[in-house]
Amino acid sequence: MKLYNTKTHQVEELIPWNKNKINMYTCGPTVYSYAHIGNLRTYIMEDVLEKTLNYIGYDVKRVMNITDVGHLSSDADTGDDKMVKSAKKENKTVLDIAKFYTDIFFEDLKKLNIKKPEIVSPATNNIDEYIKIISNLLEKGFAYQSGGNVYFDTSKLDNYYVLTNHKEEELISGVRESVEEDKNKKNKADFVLWFTKSKFEDQELKWDSPWGYGYPGWHIECTGISLKYLGEYLDIHCGGVDNIFPHHTNEIAQSEAFIGHPWCKYWFHVEYLNDKNGKMSKSKGDTLTVSTLEKEGINPLSYRLFCLGSNYRNTLEFSYDSVLSAQNTYDKLVNKIKNIKDNIENDFNKEDFEKYNGEFKKALENDLNTSSALTVLYDVIKADISNNTKLELIKNFDRVLSLDLLKEKEIDEELKKYIEEKIEERNSAKKEKNYEKADMIREELLSKGIELKDTREGTIYNLK
Ligand code: AMP
Ligand code: ZN
Repeated sequence: MKLYNTKTHQVEELIPWNKNKINMYTCGPTVYSYAHIGNLRTYIMEDVLEKTLNYIGYDVKRVMNITDVGHLSSDADTGDDKMVKSAKKENKTVLDIAKFYTDIFFEDLKKLNIKKPEIVSPATNNIDEYIKIISNLLEKGFAYQSGGNVYFDTSKLDNYYVLTNHKEEELISGVRESVEEDKNKKNKADFVLWFTKSKFEDQELKWDSPWGYGYPGWHIECTGISLKYLGEYLDIHCGGVDNIFPHHTNEIAQSEAFIGHPWCKYWFHVEYLNDKNGKMSKSKGDTLTVSTLEKEGINPLSYRLFCLGSNYRNTLEFSYDSVLSAQNTYDKLVNKIKNIKDNIENDFNKEDFEKYNGEFKKALENDLNTSSALTVLYDVIKADISNNTKLELIKNFDRVLSLDLLKEKEIDEELKKYIEEKIEERNSAKKEKNYEKADMIREELLSKGIELKDTREGTIYNLK
């Protein structure tokens, strides 16, 4: 498997620390608001990565955090805590807000067929872990106390900017936005490990620490949770490209200073979903969620297909037209597959199976080229091979694509009763030789997306 590694700035052969086992860490959502479909693009592509690794034979252990404390308005530790701000706005406690948005996040993952990582851990559950790491960093001289907070001293590292080729000045001003500079820092790039004398008097969640009552910074939570559950040798760390700096850069700094050796081999980053105003962003407020799509009649899996159609390293432009076009493709795809299923023969050709399965794997092993993998799926549907072989291939591909390609549309009891009554009525009309009425019933159902098919066993129906 070849993957682009942000750390080396090139596509590389994936060689895990430990043969066929892969430890994978994912930066989870900051649960102060609904996840937007941009965030979910990142989680869809990470899900495809995990499933691809499984498909080609790796044993993957994946961990994700839930950020419920410490993520400030600016990723460079300034501004308000996003959770506190949202709790105030909604007149709820921080923990209520966290629970509410975490639950919805997992419902959204389910709708998009994104597998929940094996371990999911909220930041607030691992305070002891952060205290242990920060104490060690202070002992070793990688951290200092200033103005009541504990900071990481980036000047102690030879190569702090390991993930980026940028110049320090550019990066710092890039993340600072319009927020004020923190005068307690020795170096501009230093970041907070622990806030004690917080300027936010109303910070709800605080814990005792050797440095006083306070709360952890955002970056230390991912280091703490990753080291706790995945150990000192991490294979793949994922996130959106906005996590590269400062979040992931800071994670590397503090993790490697703490463990004293290289930590994560591969850094996997997904590019932005943009809307007409640029990067879709929670803080801008006018973002689209899975529910917004559903209200517009868009099946969340059509959005998944839309994301799979583009390369994860390119920005993806959202528009309703393009997602509706993906929905059209999706519906056609499912119908064609249904047709294959309805015309199953009893022959399976191993050679054909290996050929197309090989092409599918090759596409994904080439830096997760999902659009080429979809092309292989379309080729299979068109190919001159047996339906049974096609079906086996589609079933296997869907272990990675997770588009429910073989799942029958669910039909509720009321609709089922209605269709059966209409079929009865049509049968009676036909018996009475009233073909005009029989045709009218067929047309009426068709206009509602219900297609009738007369077979020797009787009339059957398809939902389109
Ligand atoms: P957050 O909840 O803001 O911490 O972000 C959750 C994940 O979504 C992170 O991995 C971000 O890097 C990613 N993300 C944020 N905005 C976008 C976007 N517009 N497109 C793709 N991924 C994004
Ligand atoms: Zn993180």
